[in-house]
Amino acid sequence: MNEDKYWEEQRIVNDPQEVKVYFNCEICGAEIYEGQEYYDCDVGYLCEKCFDEEQEIYKQSCERIAGEKYGD
Ligand SMILES: [Zn+2]
Repeated sequence: MNEDKYWEEQRIVNDPQEVKVYFNCEICGAEIYEGQEYYDCDVGYLCEKCFDEEQEIYKQSCERIAGEKYGD
């Protein structure tokens, strides 16, 4: 039995306003609810905040200037 799932279900039962959690962000674990925007990235499903941070990481790691040599 998945205990976390059990308690999550109990929490929903006890709170009628609770919306079903669709998934948790791969990085920060934030709950993404049905109907909420999310990002499907290489690392998994991300919330908006982590996607922005990932974008920064990708930008930095991919940024190159033509004519300059990298590696070696
Ligand atoms: Zn996140």
